[in-house]
Amino acid sequence: METRNYTTQMDAARKGIITEEMKIVAKKENVSEEFIRAGLADGTIIIPANKNHKSLDPNAIGSKLKTKINVNLGVSRDCKDYDLEMEKVMKAVNMGAEAIMDLSSHGDTEIFRKKLCSECPAMVGTVPVYDAVIHYKRDLKELTAKDFIDVVRLHAQNGVDFVTVHCGITKKTVEQIKANNRIMNIVSRGGSLIFAWMSMTGNENPFYEYYDEILDICREYDVTVSLGDACRPGCLADASDLVQIDELTRLGELTKRAWEKDVQVMIEGPGHMPMDQIAANMKIQQTICKGAPFYVLGPLVTDIAPGYDHITAAIGGAIAAASGAAFLCYVTPAEHLALPNLEDVAQGIVASKIAAHAADIAKGVPGARDQDDRMARARRKLDWDAQWLEALDPETAKAIRNSRLPEDDHSEACSMCGKFCAVRSINKALAGETIDIL
Ligand code: SF4
Repeated sequence: METRNYTTQMDAARKGIITEEMKIVAKKENVSEEFIRAGLADGTIIIPANKNHKSLDPNAIGSKLKTKINVNLGVSRDCKDYDLEMEKVMKAVNMGAEAIMDLSSHGDTEIFRKKLCSECPAMVGTVPVYDAVIHYKRDLKELTAKDFIDVVRLHAQNGVDFVTVHCGITKKTVEQIKANNRIMNIVSRGGSLIFAWMSMTGNENPFYEYYDEILDICREYDVTVSLGDACRPGCLADASDLVQIDELTRLGELTKRAWEKDVQVMIEGPGHMPMDQIAANMKIQQTICKGAPFYVLGPLVTDIAPGYDHITAAIGGAIAAASGAAFLCYVTPAEHLALPNLEDVAQGIVASKIAAHAADIAKGVPGARDQDDRMARARRKLDWDAQWLEALDPETAKAIRNSRLPEDDHSEACSMCGKFCAVRSINKALAGETIDIL
């Protein structure tokens, strides 16, 4: 059996060791193994890879690498079929999701978590504070700080690759929220639970107070800490306010403490945010958190499009990723409205993939535009089969074309311009052929 002479991927990198995971991701990213090792050593690249997640096909996250996307799933009171949820997971992975966050909130969550960690090739993330209430089946205020930390340990043992821990919200934040008159106060589910727990018990945030214990657990299993943004703005009016930036400053300090223990870190980010503030926010995060990968939840660039928030998030996500964010959390059309169904999940993934890909082209990821160039050549030749090969969602593209083919010539143009097809006209003109429009 293989014996590891390192604890985490970061520890290995700092010792000059190239791990199997580093070799795999270097190939996928088309960069050298040394590039990955150096990024892991200084914290600008992470490979969330729990020692106990045996089915993992590893991926790296970092602003100079391909932008990755996460899909939130999990069993809930309204969808408690483990096999059906697992089907959604595999569909998400097949559509290109590099990470699945298990936000299960019903029944015995450990069963699904273990199933996920034994079958899912994508990175698995969780939010232990959600699970604490379900796991102990006790009221929030009855839970102790130790209970919360024990759930982090359980998730680590189960094989989870990254945990969202809302360590940046403290008693000081409670006062700030009360004093700052935000429109949406706190919209982070985990953040609101911790806020409520602190308000009811009068105690400090256990994830902040016992952060060193959390780091020891993460170091033992190589779980990446995803520093949650409890105070992410939940509407445009709250964006970039004192509460958000103050929490980010604390996340910067916590990043440094994690790195001192060789624990991998990423930082979660906004939220809702006007387009003109996104690039500046990415810069501030990179400066305060010393280049730790940024994981953004949107950002949603307007508040008025319920039913279309996969689009508002994709616009913000593309700007964020082109400006330095490394990891996008998908948003579905059901955001703010309902639990997403299978179709919503698919729509959300496609929107996120478009945002991630557009950003990769803008930031010059090696080879990112190759597929676009192949698509352009196929379009020039009106080669529809070649176009389906390059399409992000070929089934949808094919179905639209085939549902309304041009009347007389099915092989060439589409029914958008028919005989006025510009591509066809130019091809014929350049070949010295007659253009038959009538
Ligand atoms: S008919 Fe118009 S839209 Fe369709 S392929 Fe030709 S130029 Fe493009």
